Amino acid sequence: MINVARVTPDETLPTSVDVVVIGGGIAGITAALELVDRGLKVVVVEKGEVAAEQSSRNWGWCRQMGRDPREIPLILESLKLWRNMDSRINGETGFKTAGIAYLCKDDSETARNTSWLENYAKPAGIDSAIVSGKALDDVLPGSSPHFKAALYTPSDGRAEPFIAVPAIARAVQAKGGKIFTNCAARGIETEAGRVSAVVTERGTIKCKAALLAGGYWSRHFLANIGISFPQLGVLGSVQRTTPLENGFQTSFSGSKFCVRKRADGGFTVTHNIYTVAQIVPDSFKYFTDFLSVLKMDWRNIKPRLGSHFFAEAGLKRKWALDEISPFEKIRILDPKPHDWILDEALADLKAIFPAFARVQVAERWGGMIDATPDAVPVISAIAKQPGLYLSSGYSGHGFGIGPGAGKLMAQIIVGEQTCVEASPFRFERFSDGSKPKPMTGF
Ligand SMILES: Cc1cc2nc3c(=O)[nH]c(=O)nc-3n(C[C@H](O)[C@H](O)[C@H](O)COP(=O)(O)OP(=O)(O)OC[C@H]3O[C@@H](n4cnc5c(N)ncnc54)[C@H](O)[C@@H]3O)c2cc1C
Repeated sequence: MINVARVTPDETLPTSVDVVVIGGGIAGITAALELVDRGLKVVVVEKGEVAAEQSSRNWGWCRQMGRDPREIPLILESLKLWRNMDSRINGETGFKTAGIAYLCKDDSETARNTSWLENYAKPAGIDSAIVSGKALDDVLPGSSPHFKAALYTPSDGRAEPFIAVPAIARAVQAKGGKIFTNCAARGIETEAGRVSAVVTERGTIKCKAALLAGGYWSRHFLANIGISFPQLGVLGSVQRTTPLENGFQTSFSGSKFCVRKRADGGFTVTHNIYTVAQIVPDSFKYFTDFLSVLKMDWRNIKPRLGSHFFAEAGLKRKWALDEISPFEKIRILDPKPHDWILDEALADLKAIFPAFARVQVAERWGGMIDATPDAVPVISAIAKQPGLYLSSGYSGHGFGIGPGAGKLMAQIIVGEQTCVEASPFRFERFSDGSKPKPMTGF
């Protein structure tokens, strides 16, 4: 189990609030922060510990680079919020503007990155550029003999996933919000068709609105109330290394590795190419919804039928509100990483950059990424169930856009003018025949 910073839970479950947030990951906690800052009474219920699933297991990249155009306004808003976050919450997220570089080994990789630069970065005013030769070595020493060029964005950032969301959660508490861990939401109650309460394993909380920010579990929660959400899991394998001072501050990916400098002095090193699609019973149900993603990236997503299939097949798909729910059976999803993927990434990094030759593996973990068919999240009301909102399906890139996503979700809930165009994140795009376009970023 990874070493995520702990948040001390509140003690007495309130009987009535304005908004119940289900899920203590970055989507739920940043929305809670925005809601308490607007004067609402908010409670967050988390089945395990705050940020113990995706929001602490990720790489910590906060990138504009390679974003799908639908998400660019949200990452621009998020970076503004990240830069001011530590002073806003009077805490430490580890956020730093340290740049990100995508190394390109040949002309075709350079062309792909140049196309994103011309089509999306320049119109949005993002400071990305293609660098090569000495300019490339200035960013990442020793690169130019191995790589033709890099797409480099100096204003991209990084934060520390083991501490960032817990620090924001403590600020939610300091501003009057309540947080309950080991407290799963089993479902909702309605009055005159509108959400009137959230039923948790510890009691019922009356509310005007419920926000489901359940990460990988959102699909299960919604299925129990008769709402279909096409969302499947992809397993990411991650490792951190022992500390090493070698001057590399910019996060980078290329060849077979992705690398981020950590506040503890080590590096987070993962594979640049391979992820593993976990086959679960719902994989068959949603196969056609996900065909476009598989066509786009089929060489790099390795489908695997493993123990997770059977663990999930054993979970109840329907339960009553007075029964133990699947969320109480799996408090923290802690999948095993694939060592072969991580060994390959680290060996390749050391072979290309001798400056990393002395790093050792300090820890490895897995993280289950929740993906939608177009790899764009849902940040939206759910029309079929008035009073229920969904912030989920971040498809492997929700940490960087977390602060903006929280703001957008809060604005939708309170009915404010939104900071970015909200329509790309509508829930109903999967069911109203609009055939959402697969992600065009990378
Ligand atoms: C290996 C990996 C690498 C990644 N790298 C990056 C990166 O570099 N940059 C980036 O931007 N993004 C990255 N991501 C993606 C990013 O981490 C996620 O998109 C983001 O953390 C999703 O946040 P979330 O709050 O939606 O979900 P989560 O963090 O998974 O939180 C959901 C929470 O809801 C709780 N919950 C679920 N159901 C219930 C219930 N019924 N009752 C109570 N609680 C419930 C869960 O226990 C969980 O804590 C990566 C993800 C992984 C796994």
